[in-house]
Amino acid sequence: MRTIHKLSQEQIAKIAAGEVIEKPSFAVKELIENSLDAKASQIQIFLEEGGLKKIQIIDDGIGMNEADLKECFKLHTTSKISGEDDLVAIRSMGFRGEALASIASISRMSIQSRQPSSSAGTQITLEEGKLVSSTPVGMPPGTQIEVFDLFYSVPGRKKFIENPAKEYRAILDWVIRIALANPAIRFSLTHNKKLVFDVPKNQTTLQRLQFFLKENLSLLPVEFEDTYVQISGFSSSVEHSTSSSTKQFVFVNNRPIIDRLINTAVKEAYGNVLESNKYPIYILSITIPFEMVDVNVHPRKEQVNFLNRQLIFDQIQKAIYQTIQINSPLHEIQKQKSITTSFAGKLLKQDVDLFGVAKKIDNDQKIAQFFELYLVFQAQNQLIMVDQHAAHERILYEQLKQEFNTKKTKKVKIASPQAINLSFAEKEILSQNILFFKELGFVFNKKLKLTAMPMILQDRSIEEIISELIEQIVQDKRITLDTKSEQLLKYLACRSAVKQGDKLTEQQSKDLIEKLFETPDHTHCPHGRPTFMATALSELNKQFKRFK
Ligand code: ADP
Ligand code: MG
Repeated sequence: MRTIHKLSQEQIAKIAAGEVIEKPSFAVKELIENSLDAKASQIQIFLEEGGLKKIQIIDDGIGMNEADLKECFKLHTTSKISGEDDLVAIRSMGFRGEALASIASISRMSIQSRQPSSSAGTQITLEEGKLVSSTPVGMPPGTQIEVFDLFYSVPGRKKFIENPAKEYRAILDWVIRIALANPAIRFSLTHNKKLVFDVPKNQTTLQRLQFFLKENLSLLPVEFEDTYVQISGFSSSVEHSTSSSTKQFVFVNNRPIIDRLINTAVKEAYGNVLESNKYPIYILSITIPFEMVDVNVHPRKEQVNFLNRQLIFDQIQKAIYQTIQINSPLHEIQKQKSITTSFAGKLLKQDVDLFGVAKKIDNDQKIAQFFELYLVFQAQNQLIMVDQHAAHERILYEQLKQEFNTKKTKKVKIASPQAINLSFAEKEILSQNILFFKELGFVFNKKLKLTAMPMILQDRSIEEIISELIEQIVQDKRITLDTKSEQLLKYLACRSAVKQGDKLTEQQSKDLIEKLFETPDHTHCPHGRPTFMATALSELNKQFKRFK
């Protein structure tokens, strides 16, 4: 008996579909791209359960007639390219003729479409990629696609799909990217019947960016042109960098792409004025001849190949470098950076008892601070050197963990609720995690204004911390609450600890050391770095060749 046999068309289609539509966000992206290719001026997106239950896209584009409608969902059918020459210079978003077929084969689908020239539209329904019905329907010109129960026919894949909240975040991320790349088009997004946003037609890139990111960003205009490449957009000033790379948008010929090397090129252009863990915020629209870029590298078209990659990088770096130079000469930027005063620094100036601990170390004991970082003293025939930041981090982490675990996070009320300046996506993530934030000590009211915050963060730049916490949540791949909270507590401890450069009084040094040695695991900070080093007197004697 033969064991090798050809797969059925359906099996082939489902396998291929899995490659193209790995997650609901890819389906949404493909459907929106189809609306863009159809020259829509407004695109409405409705989702249920992160797109797993339902995705609906309504556009006012050129539509399809009945004959095309009955072709569009078949594999490798497209209206966008015909001859081989077309593949060399692809101008449309789609071209592979795979998206509708793939989505259709793993869902239940309904497509309605009407061309502006005809008086009515047609509606077809599909199940696992097969036509079930076709009827005339009254509708405005354009196309309306509904996708129900994505992946229902692929049980194996379903279990890889994580929670709807996460899928929703991925969709939101793509929709924002696409909406930023197409500021002239109106986009609206509704999730679980709640309107998430509705941005009007004919906006400028800057208006879109201000809507989706923080309003008070200081952005520098990027304008660059040479023979082949034109680069335009905005880039943040050094002071407005963030600690995650999620606010970087790159479009090549209007197509949102994700390219790590471009991101690196931009970061390098900022030179050493950006700390290594900071990222610039930017939106860059790169226009190059269609022949010089290959978008046909990957079914999802997230990446592109440039004919001359190095040239593009060099031009991007030049564009960014010029922008920074024109707007703020480098030496000024460096000066500004060094005057930042940390929270602990502020507290110390007010001479507050920072650690509030029993003062057990002998009063005669001298403790010296070196390099505004190391506390050096003698104890039991040992010379001890403590890293003040690592030590304080350990102390605060233990304290926070204890408070968090017993649900007794010490909070302070804020007299008049404080609005937090957050980007669109950040607000969404915050509202999804509101209870979790509460446990960390951040209490928000219904309007997402802060009404209480953790005691230890008093006087800190709370906005930045919340923003960074949200970014940590997004980045955290592990989903259990325990690992997440542990990470965030470590982060909070790090952010509120004294740093290098904070002068400590002798009393504060003493308190810090005492408290450190009271904590379990006091040899290491929560990130694993040592908190102190000790050298025995006998070892010193040996080194100095003082043998008795
Ligand atoms: P591709 O976009 O690569 O051509 P798709 O499977 O995404 O392949 O779509 C197949 C065809 O269906 C498109 O080429 C287009 O002719 C038609 N189509 C899909 N969506 C729309 C839409 N929203 N408006 C008009 N035509 C559409
Ligand atoms: Mg398409």
